[in-house]
Amino acid sequence: MMKHLVSIDDLTEEDIENLFYRVEDIKNDLRYFSNFRYSMNSKILSNIFYESSTRTSSSFHTAMLKLGGEVLSINEINYSSVSKGEDLQDTIRTMGCYSDIIVLRSQNEGDAKSAAEVSEIPIINAGDGKGEHPTQTLLDLYTINENFGRIKDLTITFVGDIVNGRTVHSLSKALEKKCEINYCETYDIDNLPKSDVYYLTRVQKERGSTGSYQLTKEHVKEMPDNCIVMHPFPRNEEIPKWFDDDPRAKYFDQMKNGLYMRMSLLLSYK
Ligand code: ASP
Repeated sequence: MMKHLVSIDDLTEEDIENLFYRVEDIKNDLRYFSNFRYSMNSKILSNIFYESSTRTSSSFHTAMLKLGGEVLSINEINYSSVSKGEDLQDTIRTMGCYSDIIVLRSQNEGDAKSAAEVSEIPIINAGDGKGEHPTQTLLDLYTINENFGRIKDLTITFVGDIVNGRTVHSLSKALEKKCEINYCETYDIDNLPKSDVYYLTRVQKERGSTGSYQLTKEHVKEMPDNCIVMHPFPRNEEIPKWFDDDPRAKYFDQMKNGLYMRMSLLLSYK
């Protein structure tokens, strides 16, 4: 059955749980069995990226290859008909003639929705401007659950560009669906509340945001020993590299989980 993933709201709690279970199977499979190696055999994924990406595009690409599928990559607008003035919906309808799933990253909020309106194949939103980034949320939720065994009853502090950061938009929507939220706002980085999760994001300069901030040794000293620090990456100066070896740093785990979670998601389009 075709199901677009435009917003994290397109998934039920049960869908998300099923994706989590499948990640466990995938991890075991990659380690011991290789049963999924041909699962997407003869399926083609169009990886359309109108904004830069390292992790999302590469992990979707790798996920499809590890499942035995093929990938068409369009990530250089100059070499597609977009440079001749073609609009997004026409591009989507075109790629729908040649592939089975479209992963789309675009510059404007709402683009994934307008792609889904005309698409005959599933659209997976890989980030639409400052809108949403639902697959990042799936891997973020998975990483939180991996560390705490739950998503609920946790204190999560978002630090950074909350207005323009799409990963925060999707993650906070998902958390809101799963639990009752009490929240407070602060502009004082030196008074970070004691939390289970610190989710840092970069300042989205390409969307007009300005300023910068950085985690210091003093901030880190105040963080609980059993907390985790997450970041969707790319990072700029907000997390210095000396923190990378701290056991609370989980951003490299997030990247690995991104591959497993995207494999899990693609398998639901088998
Ligand atoms: N990679 C994430 C995104 O595409 C975070 C970021 O770019 O700051 O939204």
